Amino acid sequence: MKFNTKAIHGGQENIDPAYNSVMPPIYQTSTFKQDKIGNHPEFEYSRSGNPTRAAFEKSIASLENGTYGLAFGSGLAAIDAVLKLLKPGDEVVCTSDLYGGSYRLFTKIYEDFGIKFRFIDMSEAAKIEQYINEDTKLIWVETPTNPMMNIIDVQAVAGISKSHKILLAVDNTFATPYLQRPLGLGADIVMHSATKYLGGHSDVVMGALVVKEESLAKKLYFIQNASGAVPGPQDCFLALRGVKTLHVRMQRHCENGKSIAHFLKSHANVERVYWPGFDDHPSHQIATKQMTDYGGMVSFTTKKGTMDSAVNVVERLKVFTLAESLGGVESLAGHPATMTHASIPKEEREKTGVVDSLIRLSVGIEDIDDLIADLEQALI
Ligand SMILES: *Cc1c(COP(=O)(O)O)cnc(C)c1O
Repeated sequence: MKFNTKAIHGGQENIDPAYNSVMPPIYQTSTFKQDKIGNHPEFEYSRSGNPTRAAFEKSIASLENGTYGLAFGSGLAAIDAVLKLLKPGDEVVCTSDLYGGSYRLFTKIYEDFGIKFRFIDMSEAAKIEQYINEDTKLIWVETPTNPMMNIIDVQAVAGISKSHKILLAVDNTFATPYLQRPLGLGADIVMHSATKYLGGHSDVVMGALVVKEESLAKKLYFIQNASGAVPGPQDCFLALRGVKTLHVRMQRHCENGKSIAHFLKSHANVERVYWPGFDDHPSHQIATKQMTDYGGMVSFTTKKGTMDSAVNVVERLKVFTLAESLGGVESLAGHPATMTHASIPKEEREKTGVVDSLIRLSVGIEDIDDLIADLEQALI
């Protein structure tokens, strides 16, 4: 099956043995009747497994060309499950301009448990080597990065992780499997905030992991069940419904993102535009190699360069909604310095380019003329 067919049918065979419904029922139950003691049915308790959740897990595993999918109550719960593979003394090498919530989880929770994180610029994969030692157990990559749209060469990083027998996890939230499939590039774990493009309608908070290897899947399944950060069946249903239109939404997100990136680049009140589709983007070639298109996320700085100038633009927008999050059908605008990245100290975030005048757009799938007119009136 090709991608668009998989988005709709992947892993969905025999989804409802009871009545053959086309969409899986929402199995709103915590437990399942057992016929006999010791005779374990496929589903026995909804933390351990639930048919609606399984339908979503199989769908995302299929789209990522993985073997096992695991759903979590949020993207951060999915990341948390990966970190629980580690032990005190272990080290993690990760991308420096990371999603703010991931940075907070790493530094404010897991550092206290004795895990060390090295935040580094991964634009040249070869540079990673010097940060690896015998305690390094995990490389954590986000690409495109949030909100600077840096692209990391997953295949090159996988070469390093494999030679040192270190796990490589890729946060694929921004790209989605429509644009890139990290397992095929050599990653061991793909992570998603399904809250974003997978769900796609800003109506559910959920996360997912996908892996290929059975022993790793078993460890993660053990953590999923033992720690219990699972989503409810209603949320799984919504995420699965979202996934079924992922390909058509992504196509439009990419088209609109491209038009907006070009519009901003030629605007007199815009200083710089960050979008991996530009020829002069520092990692344009890697983006073209590992992604099928450039996505719907665009960041830019104002010419004036001040906090006020950015805040004014964002507050004047009418079609774009001022909000946290991304990846929904509606266009959103955010101010990373005071919103998504507020938990990262100013010196730290400015080192990675998250300056006060930076605005991040999640370009939705509205009519492009309305989106451009909105930006035009806001950028006065
Ligand atoms: C939103 C997001 C997360 C966290 O996901 P939640 O569902 O909000 O917990 C992690 N990584 C990236 C890139 C995100 O955008």
